[in-house]
Amino acid sequence: MISSIEILTPKNLNEVLGILSSNGGDLRIIAGGTDIVTGLKQESNRFIKTEVLIDINRVAEVKGIGQANGRISIGAASTFTEIYKNQIVSKELPILKKAVATIGSLQIRNRATIAGNFVNNAPCADTVPALLVYNATIEIESINSKREISLQEFLQGPYITQLKKDEIVTRINIPVPPENFIGDFYKLGRRQAVAISRITFAVLMELEKNKINEIRIASGAVTPIGTRFSELEKFAKGKEVNNNFLKTLACKMGDEIIKLTGLRWSSEYKLPVVQQMFYQILRSATKKNL
Ligand SMILES: Cc1cc2nc3c(=O)[nH]c(=O)nc-3n(C[C@H](O)[C@H](O)[C@H](O)COP(=O)(O)OP(=O)(O)OC[C@H]3O[C@@H](n4cnc5c(N)ncnc54)[C@H](O)[C@@H]3O)c2cc1C
Repeated sequence: MISSIEILTPKNLNEVLGILSSNGGDLRIIAGGTDIVTGLKQESNRFIKTEVLIDINRVAEVKGIGQANGRISIGAASTFTEIYKNQIVSKELPILKKAVATIGSLQIRNRATIAGNFVNNAPCADTVPALLVYNATIEIESINSKREISLQEFLQGPYITQLKKDEIVTRINIPVPPENFIGDFYKLGRRQAVAISRITFAVLMELEKNKINEIRIASGAVTPIGTRFSELEKFAKGKEVNNNFLKTLACKMGDEIIKLTGLRWSSEYKLPVVQQMFYQILRSATKKNL
């Protein structure tokens, strides 16, 4: 049972920052509530001490999606449905759109927000690999400070981030990817719908005369937190895209995953699945060139 909790409904960002800076009990932001309400009902340790919820749904500064000066800016409290239907996202960020479409059910996507997805840094947060390959940065504000850092820096360890108690994530910014970039997103869950991810990958790359000019690779769920693979990216740069090379890269991805997670009882099963999935995403991203 959820114990009695005060709910505040500030009308603008200044009000939110004022409330966050006060020492009035254990404060927590609520956006879609799809994580926090479930957690409260289950008496999860992450939320059990919550005394006050700050509902940010009326705050215009954390809503809306726009494009200016070569960047796309997504309000932290944009729902997945808003992101999925947005024309800028459809045109410029197809990997994010594909990731968003796999989340929960329509009802969940109508409520759940993008910042709510990564603020707790759960390994299975499905937007994280897509945001990582797009080099997303996030704007964070408190009453006395404003900073913008990369998502990779923000995510520090399972369920640990850089966010301080008096801070809110306000926007997610993404440099518009060059037009010739190609890529894909892949999610494996235990079933087709409303499934927690077991393995996710996102890949974004630029090919020049069938050689990899730039490649960005990120995982989620299969690694302790969503992460980029800089060694693999360096290895792949300049290489010609053909079936043999994609198989080599997929094998190397298996080695990287073992390095990050260590050998487990499930590795014997998981390793070939990871390699096959990664090979399939590379094939689908580059299929015009094979
Ligand atoms: C049935 C079901 C299915 C689901 N399926 C998936 C799935 O397939 N993939 C997936 O990735 N997730 C899934 N989820 C998890 C959840 O829906 C998502 O993680 C969602 O993005 C959470 O967003 P929210 O707005 O509802 O977060 P909330 O519950 O409102 O908040 C979550 C956390 O983020 C904090 N927070 C929210 N916004 C901000 C902000 N702007 N600044 C600072 N802190 C903030 C809150 O304080 C809280 O700690 C599922 C959940 C349910 C219940």
